[in-house]
Amino acid sequence: MFRVYWCLSHEHDLRLVALAFVVCGLASFTAVLLVARTISTGGQRRGWLTLAGVVTGIGIWSTHYTAMLGFSPVLPIRFDPRAAAVSILATVLLSVAGWVIAAAGGTGRGWRGSAAAGGLIVGLGLAVAHYVDMDGLIVAGRIVYDFDLVAVSIVAGLFFCGLTGWLLQRGQTGRYRVLAGLSLSAGVLLLHFIGMAALRILPDPTIVVAASALGLDQLGGLVIAGTVAVLCVALAVAVYDDRMIRQSARAAERLAASSTALRLSEEHYRFAVEFNPQIPWVSDVFGMILEIGPLAADVTGVPIDNLLGRGWMRYVHPEDIVQIGSDSVNVWHRRGSFDHRYRVRQTDGSYRWSRARGTARRGPDRSVMLWYGSLEDIDDQVTAENALRLSEERYRLALGATNEAIWDWHHATDRIDWGEAVGSQLGYPEAQAGTSQGWWVDRVHPDDFKAARLSLEKALGDGSTLWGAEYRFRKGDGTYADIYSRGKIVRDANGTPIRTVGAMLDITERKRTEESLRWRAMHDPLTDLPNRTLFNQRLTDALQAAKMKRHGVGLIVLDVDDFKMVNDTFGHPTGDALLCLLAQRLRRIVPADAVVARLGGDEFAVILPKLETGEALIDVIGRALAGLNVVFDLEGRAIECNTSVGGAMWPGDGSNAEELLKSADIALNTAKSEDRASIRTFSGDMRVLIETRATMLTEARGALKDDRIVPFYQPKIDLVTGEIAGFEALLRWNHHRNGLQPPNGIAAAFEDIELSGRLTDRMIDRVVRDMQDWQHAGVDFRKIAINGSAADFLRGDFSDRLLGALHQADISPTCFEIEVTETVFVGRVAKNVERTLNDLSAAGVTVALDDFGTGYASLSHLRQFPVDVIKIDQSFVHKLARIDDDDVAIIQAVIALAKSLDLVTVAEGVETDVQATQLRAEGCDLAQGYLFSRAVAAFQVAKLVARRPASFAVASRLEPDAEPFAKAI
Ligand code: C2E
Ligand code: CA
Ligand code: CA
Repeated sequence: MFRVYWCLSHEHDLRLVALAFVVCGLASFTAVLLVARTISTGGQRRGWLTLAGVVTGIGIWSTHYTAMLGFSPVLPIRFDPRAAAVSILATVLLSVAGWVIAAAGGTGRGWRGSAAAGGLIVGLGLAVAHYVDMDGLIVAGRIVYDFDLVAVSIVAGLFFCGLTGWLLQRGQTGRYRVLAGLSLSAGVLLLHFIGMAALRILPDPTIVVAASALGLDQLGGLVIAGTVAVLCVALAVAVYDDRMIRQSARAAERLAASSTALRLSEEHYRFAVEFNPQIPWVSDVFGMILEIGPLAADVTGVPIDNLLGRGWMRYVHPEDIVQIGSDSVNVWHRRGSFDHRYRVRQTDGSYRWSRARGTARRGPDRSVMLWYGSLEDIDDQVTAENALRLSEERYRLALGATNEAIWDWHHATDRIDWGEAVGSQLGYPEAQAGTSQGWWVDRVHPDDFKAARLSLEKALGDGSTLWGAEYRFRKGDGTYADIYSRGKIVRDANGTPIRTVGAMLDITERKRTEESLRWRAMHDPLTDLPNRTLFNQRLTDALQAAKMKRHGVGLIVLDVDDFKMVNDTFGHPTGDALLCLLAQRLRRIVPADAVVARLGGDEFAVILPKLETGEALIDVIGRALAGLNVVFDLEGRAIECNTSVGGAMWPGDGSNAEELLKSADIALNTAKSEDRASIRTFSGDMRVLIETRATMLTEARGALKDDRIVPFYQPKIDLVTGEIAGFEALLRWNHHRNGLQPPNGIAAAFEDIELSGRLTDRMIDRVVRDMQDWQHAGVDFRKIAINGSAADFLRGDFSDRLLGALHQADISPTCFEIEVTETVFVGRVAKNVERTLNDLSAAGVTVALDDFGTGYASLSHLRQFPVDVIKIDQSFVHKLARIDDDDVAIIQAVIALAKSLDLVTVAEGVETDVQATQLRAEGCDLAQGYLFSRAVAAFQVAKLVARRPASFAVASRLEPDAEPFAKAI
């Protein structure tokens, strides 16, 4: 140690020694830093290690020569430049190698030995450099080494260098680095100064110092250069390191940020994948699923593994597999994408709709490498779509099935969309493309437009939700259709209408049907004239108008006389034709403003809405009669028509329609009863007449009910023998106050179907009972005749009833006669009359034709019906007294006719001997009349029969006996 101290203190300039220490420390710490950071960052960066090696090498070399500058031995020294070059090369190379090896082990648990070994190599370089330099020392003397010290120097250098390596590897903290720096410095300095102490120069003047050797001054330049180089490197390293630190801080920041971003994006991705209803999948070119999102298991209910590869195909509905297959793989490849819907079988066997979409990922040669896509459960969507499609289809079908033109009017755009029927029903197929409201306005009938528009504006304005109107609408073919349009108004939150949706229904046909129904309800189908209902309406209207305008109204009612006869004789079609003809004529005859109506069967009426005077009414009636009472030619048949007319005037003959019609009816009935085909206008007493008729019916009913009907018997006298040939039973009824009454008090009842039948029944009962009594009493009544009415023949059982009653009473039908007037031979009952009379006649009942000469006096009737007796009407008999040639001629003709037909003749109403004598002279068989007897009560018949009148005089004497009854009748 002393030697080392002595060497330093006596052979060295201490200032330069200090500088050598500084240079050494600088280089050592620089090298240590470089190596340390290389080790801490993974030890793979050769550049840094090379730099560290270079710094170490140059540092060692510079330290050496700096120290050498301060070395002043006894002899001046020079240096061999070759040795300097070799030494720097050796130390640099070995340092680089050493540091590389030292860093190879890395930090921590690596091969620790490598660091120490690297350090040793650095130390070896240090030793080599020192002693090569020493060997290059040129001095005029001999150099002697103390080899012990040399060994110590090398050991010390190697130790500290190895320690440096170990420390560097051992820890990365600053402390270790400081220790490592100190250790390296120690190694370098110890080796140098111990090595210098081992040197001794022994002067030898024989040795010549070569001129090429470097002097101290030159050496100083080299040392400065080396030091500056080390300093520069150190500075560069410091600056670089600083930059690196800042950069790495930024990099760390970036790294942190990007790792956060990465974590976030990973999370997003995870959520996106896990919760996205679209399940991602990847397949190879052939459709083999390579990967599929985990949600697929939930959606399909199939484990993921089962779906991989071609597994998914097993779960697709067989029909859909076919469909997928039809879209060939080539097409997908060309297109680079596909979109399929198919049903996927669930674990419970049901199917759910899925949608798979895929996009091809192509390689550089444009061939498909993989398919990327998504799978989605769209079952709810498909179900909804199907439901919608169905409902749309149903709606469309419903629209097609209806003839309503559906419209949808958007108020803001003034656009109306139309359904199909706008073409098919309204003839505007082009309107389906949409129209404005103006289009509709243009086609509404001008007369209906105002009302339709008003109702629409009202509905839109008053907050209604519905609108409906009826109007005529011009169709595509130019004709107008009756339309019923209705719509629903859709409003916004403020109540402003935004849209109206509705339908136009063509109701033309319905209206037509309605109209025809209404027309039929109001008109007579045969003549097309207004019927009674419409007539009543029109009459009321006419009276109302007349009241306001203060003019009169005329009413005429017409009735075809004996129309039944036309029907029965010529058939109903002819009767109908006659009615039509009459209707036509009537319409032509009456004024234009008149209303002609058919009130029933053969009854017509005419309303004359503007009539001022009764004369005007008579004038119209006269024209009507003149036009109607003519002979019509109906299909070659000449039909004589007789019409009776009654007329009445408002306000004189009735204050309202009902009264006016009643008055006209009364006038008509009066006209009919008085003189057929006559004119009658209403007069006050007509009403009395009508009322009397009603009273008659009431009386008849009461008499029937209280059994106040009794037959009286008027004898028929044989004009030759003066004997009673029989009796005619005539109806008498007991008035509750006025006593016994002739039938004229209830005459109307004989025309009433119901009452007439009942009266005849009652008469038959009574007459048969009387006959029975007489028979029992031995009264020779000969023959009893009763009067039959048309109504009796309406009943099919008249003959059965009559014959039955006679049979029951044990009376021979030959004792019975039935008197009928010719009117029963015509009309509806004619067929019945013929049959009934034939039956009766066959049974022995004789038939007398009553009132002969007043009716039709048709000879054909005498042949057609089984007539036995002709009763000459009293009107002829009464005229006999006046010796009227004409009437005598008629009676003569009738008697002659009867004789030719082998019929018995009876003269009615014979009141005088003159008449009786004349009749007998003319050959009349029997006579009946007051001359012989009035009708008498049943109990008096025996008396009459008991008398045997020998002459008319005797017969006339019968009367006093009949006094009490004759008075009554
Ligand atoms: P009729 O069948 O022509 O009857 C004869 C009518 O002449 C009877 O009137 C009779 O009283 C009346 N008479 C008889 N002799 C004379 C006479 O010398 N001078 C006048 N002026 N009259 C005479 P009566 O009984 O008032 O009957 C009137 C008519 O009433 C009958 O006319 C007949 O048509 C009808 N009638 C009467 N009884 C019945 C009946 O039971 N059934 C039906 N259906 N009609 C009856
Ligand atoms: Ca009679
Ligand atoms: Ca008569």
